[in-house]
Amino acid sequence: MRVSIDSSVCIGSGMCALTAPSVFDQDDEGYGTVRPGRADGAGDPLVKEAVRACPVQAVRLDED
Ligand code: SF4
Repeated sequence: MRVSIDSSVCIGSGMCALTAPSVFDQDDEGYGTVRPGRADGAGDPLVKEAVRACPVQAVRLDED
């Protein structure tokens, strides 16, 4: 699994960080980021919820 955020699409709603805080964070401007070392999803089942929660489909999940 590989998690990423399309920063050209993200509107900074913060839903990803609220939904799966072990994997996502927000930068100083509120845009979503993947926490360092967590791009593999860290085995967190909430990652899929974060994909659904993003209002602009900026959270991308690629299965290996
Ligand atoms: S939920 Fe989507 S729009 Fe909101 S901060 Fe995360 S990636 Fe950006």
